[in-house]
Amino acid sequence: MVIQLTGMDGGKVDLPPEAVQAFRGAFSGAVLAPGDEGYEEARRIWNGMIDRRPGLIARCTGTADAAQAVRFARRHGLLLSVRGGGHNIAGLAVCEGGLMIDLSAMRGVWVDPAARLARAQAGCTLGDLDRETQAHGLATVLGFVSATGIAGLTVGGGFGYLTRRHGWTCDNVASMEVVTADGEIRQVSAGSHPDLFWALRGGGGNFGLVTSFEYRLFPVGPEILGGALAWRGEDARQALEAYRTFSAAAPRELTCVAALRIAPPAPWLPKEQHGKLVALIFICHTGRIEEGEALLTALRRVGNPIADTVTRRPYTQMQSLLDATQPKGRRYYWKSHYLPGIGPELINLAVDHAGRLVSPHSAFFLFHLQGALNELPAGHSPAGNRDAAYVLNIASAWERPEDDAANIQWARDCFEATRASSTGGAYVNFLTEEEGADRIEAAYGRSILDRLAAIKRTHDPDDLFRHTKRISG
Ligand SMILES: Cc1cc2nc3c(=O)[nH]c(=O)nc-3n(C[C@H](O)[C@H](O)[C@H](O)COP(=O)(O)OP(=O)(O)OC[C@H]3O[C@@H](n4cnc5c(N)ncnc54)[C@H](O)[C@@H]3O)c2cc1C
Repeated sequence: MVIQLTGMDGGKVDLPPEAVQAFRGAFSGAVLAPGDEGYEEARRIWNGMIDRRPGLIARCTGTADAAQAVRFARRHGLLLSVRGGGHNIAGLAVCEGGLMIDLSAMRGVWVDPAARLARAQAGCTLGDLDRETQAHGLATVLGFVSATGIAGLTVGGGFGYLTRRHGWTCDNVASMEVVTADGEIRQVSAGSHPDLFWALRGGGGNFGLVTSFEYRLFPVGPEILGGALAWRGEDARQALEAYRTFSAAAPRELTCVAALRIAPPAPWLPKEQHGKLVALIFICHTGRIEEGEALLTALRRVGNPIADTVTRRPYTQMQSLLDATQPKGRRYYWKSHYLPGIGPELINLAVDHAGRLVSPHSAFFLFHLQGALNELPAGHSPAGNRDAAYVLNIASAWERPEDDAANIQWARDCFEATRASSTGGAYVNFLTEEEGADRIEAAYGRSILDRLAAIKRTHDPDDLFRHTKRISG
């Protein structure tokens, strides 16, 4: 029976059964079609709002599978999407009706402690990579939730607790193995295909499919000083004021993240506060523990903290502290800005909008970035935005489809209200499904976008890798 898939242009492509059979026969991993065991689980990603059904899912076991799948898509003109960790808010990993190349079974990591380098396959989660590098007391810059995929995070930029010290994740990539749109497997670095190497460090998945990344590593932990401080909602303004001054003066070893949200029923928060607004400051100090303790004294004296879990703990534990708040399958919608700093007006707006939260799972987050990334030249990597000091993420999260409109509106209102505090830039990895050309231009700026578009024309003239935040020009 002929199998019908969606083509690159959105039309239908009839695949003769022999073509699919030959593909399956030469493929090492599983090729799943609707109805096959495992298909439903494989198409589901972190954001429960995304409900697309690929025509085929190719679950790769290695680079050879990935290259074969790219060639198959190209030969038949199929719509193609690439899944790493499946955490992209816009659901870029899953295409409707086309071929989804799923790398999530490719999770090998090899660490060279002497060279301070790690090679990680593109299906790794942040937790996979941290676990292996921390066995040697090393780490690279990764994000705050351990189930996130390294691939999407890295090709879109990537920031976390080590960003103040070492810049974007993509600034710390030494080389990559890439399957390009022609189906070739290329070793890409500053000395080999430098244009591709540059573009894939922040320009998103527009230029090829990365099968592995080589990261530069730094000594970290393995024990660090970390945890969270909490204040009642009534003290949110005071807590954010303290966050502003404390973070701005902090050395680069200290990164803090502020959050306003409804207190979950977590054992570390007082029972009487559950279900009420709280202000939280997450702390990660990767310098000497005693120095971190000394720095924290001032913050611990602000108002009356109702919880304090900051203690000596494994870095890997710190890297997964937020995991439980971001479960797979919930409905999510985000809006975000880069900020040059935190002004009094932003604090007023934060407190005001936190007072109008419509879901107990939503949060207003401020992540501190300032440091190493600001010191590199604007065009060092497309992740750019080297004027950013903080990221504001307005993160709506809820359970039921009937609550979509109210939760989306809350995030949009807060986004519009805080627009005047923004650098005007945007983080491509935080863009939602409907955010298009104007926000992509905000993410890169015109000159980086033009350079990316030229590289796209060279390496993917037919726009095979189009299920992305698209680069055009
Ligand atoms: C709970 C949560 C927490 C987060 N925290 C952070 C954070 O702290 N810091 C931060 O910087 N970001 C953070 N993010 C954003 C994150 O960086 C992006 O969502 C990123 O896209 C996730 O990568 P993934 O591999 O899981 O994505 P996927 O959804 O699997 O892929 C997204 C897209 O990335 C591209 N892509 C994926 N794999 C490849 C590949 N192998 N080769 C080429 N392109 C590829 C493709 O375009 C793909 O469609 C967070 C996201 C979530 C959901």
